[in-house]
Amino acid sequence: MLSWFLMKENQKVLVIDKYNPSSASNVASGITNPITGRKFVKTWLADEMLPFAESIYREFEKLFQQDFFNSVSIIKILDSIKAQNDWSTRCSSPEYLAYLKNETIIRFDRDKVKNDFGGFEINGASRLETDKFLSLYRNLLKEKEALLEDEFDFERLEVEEKFVSYKGKQAQKIFFCEGANAVHNPYFKFLPFQLAKGECLIVRIPDFYPNQVINGEVFIMPMQEKDLYYIGATHEWQFDDDQPSEKGRNELLGNLSTVLKAPFEIVEHKAAIRPTVKDRRPFIGFNPESPNVGIFNGMGTKGISLAPYFANHFANHLLKGKDLMKEVDIKRFL
Ligand SMILES: Cc1cc2nc3c(=O)[nH]c(=O)nc-3n(C[C@H](O)[C@H](O)[C@H](O)COP(=O)(O)OP(=O)(O)OC[C@H]3O[C@@H](n4cnc5c(N)ncnc54)[C@H](O)[C@@H]3O)c2cc1C
Repeated sequence: MLSWFLMKENQKVLVIDKYNPSSASNVASGITNPITGRKFVKTWLADEMLPFAESIYREFEKLFQQDFFNSVSIIKILDSIKAQNDWSTRCSSPEYLAYLKNETIIRFDRDKVKNDFGGFEINGASRLETDKFLSLYRNLLKEKEALLEDEFDFERLEVEEKFVSYKGKQAQKIFFCEGANAVHNPYFKFLPFQLAKGECLIVRIPDFYPNQVINGEVFIMPMQEKDLYYIGATHEWQFDDDQPSEKGRNELLGNLSTVLKAPFEIVEHKAAIRPTVKDRRPFIGFNPESPNVGIFNGMGTKGISLAPYFANHFANHLLKGKDLMKEVDIKRFL
């Protein structure tokens, strides 16, 4: 995203990236959700960020002449009378009007979904097919000769006062956007990442609900292929690797059993590490001693909506001198 906003302003960019099918972006369900959590709280900056993200993904759809960003209807399952009351209170708040328009309780077939207290619809959510979008963007970079598919080697980076050089190529600046791998970056050791591993299952559920995302203890999200659903995701703060685990699978199946009654079959099990952050705000800015070395990271659990908005914000800071928002500027840790 950052490379895109810089190229739009006629900057010459080289992206160095080793393709990783298990990156957080490739494994993500790709949802942008305006209302999250047990208390149904509005996502930070939702009113500006979600329409902006949509406009950017639509721009990409037009450019690539492909479809990979779609509105989705999320039905949040209510688990008690208290939850019903909390939701009803939210519906009457003007701030939530755009996202909780419909005060009707939705009921699912009880043979398929456990929903004793029903569910409610969240408006304004979307889904990005991340792997499709990223693969198209990689092709665009290749066409522009702006992609170096390589494992980054810190030994080969030279940081001078006015420029940086890497394997014989010179640039004014370098920006690290390595996701969870940034914990090994020597220039940003001081940033308080608090990584969270996430696992998901792809399952086949014949004759289920192909037009709604059902959100209980887990998300049951219809995928493009008929009868396939994405079940996600776990949040694990203690882990040894980025591989799918027995523990993650059991947790997902346990949570799934609290929502799903229909029979299903597991097709795939995936895992990735999210670049989550202690204060849940992105990491944007420069190394205090090497002002040519920047970072754009910390997208946490919401990269799909945060990345377009803050890549544009960072590009405006870099090229137009606009202030960086204090909440995202890494100066908050200096
Ligand atoms: C199971 C799961 C579900 C999720 N669901 C959602 C969701 O529904 N909605 C949402 O908004 N977010 C979701 N997320 C979070 C989202 O995936 C992240 O916020 C986002 O993808 C982070 O993007 P990133 O580019 O910072 O990191 P990544 O996607 O990890 O990308 C980092 C890139 O840097 C490359 N790289 C790193 N180090 C090097 C190196 N040394 N050399 C070369 N290349 C390198 C990697 O190969 C990779 O391509 C989910 C995450 C998980 C794990």
